[in-house]
Amino acid sequence: MGTYAVTGSASGMGHETALRLKADGHTVIGVDIKDADIVADLSTPHGRKQAADGVVAASGGRLDGAVLAAGLGPSPGRERLRQIGQVNYFGVVEPLVAWRPALAAAECAKVVVVASNSSTTVPLVPRRTVKALLAHDGDKALRSVRPFGPAAPTMMYAASKIAVSRWVRRHAVLPEWAGSGVRLNALAPGAIMTPLLQEQLATPRQAKAVRSFPVPAEFLCGSVVFVDGGTDAYFRADDWPKAPPAHGLPGYLRRFRRSGSQ
Ligand code: NAD
Repeated sequence: MGTYAVTGSASGMGHETALRLKADGHTVIGVDIKDADIVADLSTPHGRKQAADGVVAASGGRLDGAVLAAGLGPSPGRERLRQIGQVNYFGVVEPLVAWRPALAAAECAKVVVVASNSSTTVPLVPRRTVKALLAHDGDKALRSVRPFGPAAPTMMYAASKIAVSRWVRRHAVLPEWAGSGVRLNALAPGAIMTPLLQEQLATPRQAKAVRSFPVPAEFLCGSVVFVDGGTDAYFRADDWPKAPPAHGLPGYLRRFRRSGSQ
């Protein structure tokens, strides 16, 4: 039986993952802003350090795996706009980097980052926002989405999920990760009925966007899952995920058609 860190363990997918791991006999170190073994606010550098140090201490320096599920949806609000990038990108990458030695100590560790299908379905996600996040410049990322007005949270959300997916693809194949026996992968769920989605459905603009997404089947459907030891990520880390072109663009996004997008 192993020891697993799970962020977002208080609700939704993180909570279900923690329950499942525990039911299978594993030890889970839950991280969340509330109701968790390590209570930490992943939207701040201080909180991320608390989460990083707390898990390393609780694990005794050996982690068999980690599931990074803490996240914030694209709800409106100035402070929320900042938090989306901070939790969804920095709240994944910073703890993971801090946990890498503990993951390597297990020799065959598995990491799952919960991204989103918004990384390939939201049109016109600004390239500079993704670049700024990958360059660890949260302020620049924030400035780059503000001109989108009411669509800014959606842009920040999709950019954070593209950035975190690319971070996984860039790092998964490196000696520090794959070479140390740690397998990094990302999952990109569509709409799953959790408190995050319920919050979106309570906002008319968001609800309309969510309902416009067809879901023709049970999950998993139409996915190409590379099972290649990292070859695709090695050769084409940044080629995917990519937001779609401006085809069928909603009216409120048309004026951004010519700005640099993914
Ligand atoms: P959820 O709201 O049920 O759970 C998210 C958890 O993250 C909560 O427990 C919350 O407290 C925690 N969290 C939020 N801000 C935090 C902070 N500052 N510090 C620490 N913890 C914080 O949502 P969910 O749907 O289970 O989401 C899990 C992941 O799945 C998220 O990354 C989300 O972006 C992603 N996702 C969800 C959907 C969906 O439709 N539900 C779709 C695609 C991707």
